[in-house]
Amino acid sequence: MRKFGLIGKSLDHSFSPAYFLEKFRSSGLADHSYDAIELKNIGQVADILGSGDYHGLNVTIPYKEAIIPYLDAVNETAAAVGAVNTIVFDGGITVGHNTDVIGFERSLIGLLNGARPAALIFGTGGAAKAVAFVLRKLGIDHRFVSRQKSEGSIHWTELGDSIVDESMLLINCTPIGMFPNVDDALPLPYYRVGPDHFAFDLVYNPSPTRFLQHCADQGAQVKSGGEMLKLQAEASWDLWNQE
Ligand code: NAP
Repeated sequence: MRKFGLIGKSLDHSFSPAYFLEKFRSSGLADHSYDAIELKNIGQVADILGSGDYHGLNVTIPYKEAIIPYLDAVNETAAAVGAVNTIVFDGGITVGHNTDVIGFERSLIGLLNGARPAALIFGTGGAAKAVAFVLRKLGIDHRFVSRQKSEGSIHWTELGDSIVDESMLLINCTPIGMFPNVDDALPLPYYRVGPDHFAFDLVYNPSPTRFLQHCADQGAQVKSGGEMLKLQAEASWDLWNQE
């Protein structure tokens, strides 16, 4: 058997197990399996990593950062972001990677079609850090919007019309609007959004979210997180199959 799995805390509604099991079924990979590995605390991960059972692993909330001290090495991108969502077993050595970065970059490039507009990143959590890494790489100016004002971010209450006029790329990295709270939308002056804006929501359920729907109603070009999710899964698969 070639065994794979997802490490997390509460995995009932996780995307990856269903995605990979369907991929293995449709590709005729009968000797491949993908487990949902729920850990009550990150200390339990040492047994999983040392078991020798797995060919590759994914990592999700809340362990993307906490897993790092348990790994033998972390690649440059994952180290810069400070989060790991994919583990490769390389000759007995565990190496952490971040394919959220790859998934977001590829999906964003498809949306922007060559444009490099200034961006607002809503939220400052793990996903926001991966998004900021990609924007830096692409040379896109960006500001964070947060519930806490700090040197690197503005507070939601400072989000006036002019900032939305100046920021043509709006990226939701908060859970606002995610199922079951599907009626919630980011508190933005949507009447300032127009056809020159781009809106990206990392939330993939529902698709579109209220935020994306409001932006699309104003003529903006929009993209939901579903494509990023599939691209990050495929990037993990590619890493596990590299010789
Ligand atoms: P996280 O670490 O919990 O961070 C979310 C951030 O959003 C927080 O740091 C917080 O920033 C802000 N936030 C949280 N609750 C809020 C609220 N009620 N109102 C306003 N701001 C709030 O989560 P994450 O891992 O970054 O993930 C964020 C979202 O992206 C989730 O919905 C996740 O499912 C999605 N995601 C999607 C993909 C994909 O492939 N499509 C990949 C990764 C994540 P402040 O404290 O600065 O306000």
